[in-house]
Amino acid sequence: MDYTACHVVVTGAASGIGLATAHAAAERGAQVIALDRDASALQRMQAKFSERAWPLTTLPVDLADEAAIRDVVARLATLSPKIDLLVNSAGIVSRGLFEDTALADWQRVLSVNLTGSFLCLQQMVPLLRAGTGRAVVNVASLAAKRVSHTGGASYTAAKAGVLGLTRHAAFELAAHGIRVNAVCPGPVLTAMTLNATTQAARQQVAEMVPLGEWSTPEDVAHAILFLGSPLARMITGTTLDIDGGLSLVTGTSY
Ligand code: NAD
Repeated sequence: MDYTACHVVVTGAASGIGLATAHAAAERGAQVIALDRDASALQRMQAKFSERAWPLTTLPVDLADEAAIRDVVARLATLSPKIDLLVNSAGIVSRGLFEDTALADWQRVLSVNLTGSFLCLQQMVPLLRAGTGRAVVNVASLAAKRVSHTGGASYTAAKAGVLGLTRHAAFELAAHGIRVNAVCPGPVLTAMTLNATTQAARQQVAEMVPLGEWSTPEDVAHAILFLGSPLARMITGTTLDIDGGLSLVTGTSY
């Protein structure tokens, strides 16, 4: 997959799946534009990219804030004449039982995972139309199609919403030649999961996965770049599971 001269926007780019996607795109020649709320992690990312002479633009933004998204996209439009691939990877979980879920937590999880993805895509349509790649990949989760053991009801609902957003946007934006797909990762070793599990719990999860291990962020990044590339030129409105076969054997996403 060659991303030479492609402009790739990644949200949640400072960590985990977003960071791996930014790396994999840059390795293949892309100019990466990284959005994240964590300004210091973006600075560390900038330093690493500079060591390799990979072009990178970093834009700190809280994707739970509509006005901030509008501002950052307006800024982006002055820095980049087009977007070839948008990857919506920013996400958060809120743990706890259904009956204990506070409305504020519910809304926060929906606003980052679902509304943030909607707003980024909606605001970036003109830039995507100006690109040649014209692809969007939303990072959902196996939880979208199952039940999230650890992420809570808000996470399951938000990620199910991301799949609905993906289908509907794919349907409407096909008229502009823009393809919209989603990935559904199972367990992936990132800060999100490492901070929330013990070594013993991770071992238990690995034993549940038919292929016997957790996915790496790079495993997901490669699937994202495939969907974003011309190799997937007739694929739109669909989802790709990256779960080592977990969905074959369980009704929960772990
Ligand atoms: P991560 O915590 O390593 O990375 C998430 C990134 O999103 C961080 O850099 C964080 O700063 C950023 N972010 C969070 N809230 C934000 C906000 N309001 N505004 C801007 N940036 C924000 O987690 P990850 O595992 O790489 O998660 C990436 C995506 O993959 C998420 O959408 C997550 O739900 C999804 N996912 C992860 C797993 C897994 O097992 N790790 C499984 C399925 C799906």
